[in-house]
Amino acid sequence: MAKKKIGKLPPRYLFMLNPYADVRLSKCPQCQKLTYLRKFALFIHIDAWGPMALGKTCRYCSRCELIMAHQDELEAQLAYSFSQMAPAVIGNAYLVLGTIDKKVWKEGLAGGGEHQGEMLQHVADFKRVLQLVVEPGGWYPAEREQPQ
Ligand SMILES: [Zn+2]
Repeated sequence: MAKKKIGKLPPRYLFMLNPYADVRLSKCPQCQKLTYLRKFALFIHIDAWGPMALGKTCRYCSRCELIMAHQDELEAQLAYSFSQMAPAVIGNAYLVLGTIDKKVWKEGLAGGGEHQGEMLQHVADFKRVLQLVVEPGGWYPAEREQPQ
């Protein structure tokens, strides 16, 4: 992923997209502290559409400043948003790039029709995007335990 800053605010938060529907992330995968639910305005780039803002309740670890979004929930919300606006876009590749100042985002919702350049003034890129890797439980061949 090319690392080019998009938002005009200083980078903020770590982000993780959780592809495992059965992993609920009630504990932070980094520090094992309990996470809680918090709503963020996510800044998402969608192929053949462009940037969009999506209000999404995510798991959050305040110690790590890590936002965790469940991929299935996020995609369901995206599909719902685009079902009226632009159904052809549903299923396109997308990238969650950062967060938008929530106050500005709410005003945008109320007023509508914000300009893209203006929106970027209130966007903060993520500091880092983490991968969640879950080792499948079960038996491994003996060679796995004594790597040569
Ligand atoms: Zn943590």
